[in-house]
Amino acid sequence: MSAPDPSTAATAALAGAKPLAFWLDPEVEGHEVPETASALSGEITTDLAVVGAGFSGLWAALIAKERDPGRDVVLIEARTAGWAASGRNGGFCASSLTHGFANGANRWPDEIADLERLGRQNLDEIEAAIARHGIDCEFERTGELLVATAQWQADDLAVEAANLRELGYTTEFLTEEQTRAEVDSPTYVGGMFDPDAVAMLHPAKLAWGLRAACLRLGVRIYEQTPVRDIRSISGGLRLESRSGAVTARRVAWATGAFPGPLRRIRHFVAPVYDYALMTEPLSEEEMASIGWKNRQGLSDSANQFHYYRLSADNRILWGGYDVIYHYGGKVRPQYDQRPETFERLAEHFFATFPQLEDLRFTHAWGGVIDTCSRFCAFFGLAYGGRLAYVSGYTGLGVGATRFGAEVMLDLLAGEDTERTRLEMVRSKPIPFPPEPLRYTGIELTRRAIAAADRNNGRRNLWLTTLDRLGLGFDS
Ligand SMILES: Cc1cc2nc3c(=O)[nH]c(=O)nc-3n(C[C@H](O)[C@H](O)[C@H](O)COP(=O)(O)OP(=O)(O)OC[C@H]3O[C@@H](n4cnc5c(N)ncnc54)[C@H](O)[C@@H]3O)c2cc1C
Repeated sequence: MSAPDPSTAATAALAGAKPLAFWLDPEVEGHEVPETASALSGEITTDLAVVGAGFSGLWAALIAKERDPGRDVVLIEARTAGWAASGRNGGFCASSLTHGFANGANRWPDEIADLERLGRQNLDEIEAAIARHGIDCEFERTGELLVATAQWQADDLAVEAANLRELGYTTEFLTEEQTRAEVDSPTYVGGMFDPDAVAMLHPAKLAWGLRAACLRLGVRIYEQTPVRDIRSISGGLRLESRSGAVTARRVAWATGAFPGPLRRIRHFVAPVYDYALMTEPLSEEEMASIGWKNRQGLSDSANQFHYYRLSADNRILWGGYDVIYHYGGKVRPQYDQRPETFERLAEHFFATFPQLEDLRFTHAWGGVIDTCSRFCAFFGLAYGGRLAYVSGYTGLGVGATRFGAEVMLDLLAGEDTERTRLEMVRSKPIPFPPEPLRYTGIELTRRAIAAADRNNGRRNLWLTTLDRLGLGFDS
């Protein structure tokens, strides 16, 4: 039998895909979308206002109540909890706080052992909180298999596995045969398996579950309430929306890729679009044809990479590769759909798994990521220490947002903790330049990265210069 043409298979397979994130689709069995809370109206006061109900804000509100049940906490969300990146991501809940070990080790070599330990502890705490609050979010601590589809990637993975083993983790390098015994693709030439560092989960169910846990602990939630202005007043900050205002002693600002009225973080964040597809559930024969028994999350290891994983009902989520920045940092609902990216992703899917040529995609969607030039979260205080913020997770925030929430609460309490002492927490990324330089720089970098992938990973002068400056662009 000859291999199917990936391009023909892609077009046919996408024909019936809904333009909607699978996780947020109310028609999927088991999706109990919470009723939207009412908007803030009139004047209220609180001890702590958390702005943004993605994972960063939901964790901040929940942990604030857990740390001090007597504190009054208000959570304010522009639309509905989890509608943005937090409800539509790949569901890889990683221990890494630094967008992968290599990025952290390059930037903070003296701190990487602590950052890895704190990250793994953070993932343990996510697992414990999910159990404690009875959140059914299909959490599976499967570990992650990074696969190499070219020899230079396998060489890099071998070095990374050795570095992680030196820190005491049980990360293994896998040969081509060992990798294909885990998941069978003709494109694999090697792999690296970390059994402990990543869990798979249903992101929207986690967001809905955290929201419910917040309500049970007494957090007051207002949805459909974009905060438009922040003002210093005596005793706190006044956050204004169209229909009401909250006066808060302290504010945790957790608005992801949307800095809004917090102008000081705008230069650090570039909103970029990332895309994903979901297949229909695989039959037993289809599962057997790819041999994916251990349910690990997978990513390939080029600079432009795919991430893929199984859902609870054995669909495959397949995302990544293209990272799209729109001039001026524009964010628009219509950008959530990008047919040329969906075609490309589907082609790559069938090139990876030619065994699945008859499989169809049921959902195709995109979402915005808060990219910053160092690829991992940055933190800070504003308004005389009364507002703490976090942003910049750059595509690896499902797990790290819980750590970010803890940092915001530590900073607001003025506490000196192991977290707040980290250089990673005390330093800021290099800001992006204004337009048109920002767009030009990002496009040049995207092209150089694609060229490096075609060229056995060799980085051109532009990329090596950015590397030396500690700058870059990623998803
Ligand atoms: C397609 C895709 C795939 C991804 N895959 C993964 C993955 O597999 N693993 C991983 O670790 N990460 C992944 N990510 C990234 C991850 O989803 C994010 O890092 C994480 O969800 C960020 O959470 P957040 O709470 O900081 O931001 P968000 O989830 O974006 O939440 C911010 C919230 O703030 C609200 N808001 C904004 N402005 C205001 C305002 N002025 N007033 C009130 N509310 C406001 C927004 O409405 C929004 O609900 C992916 C992202 C995308 C888009």
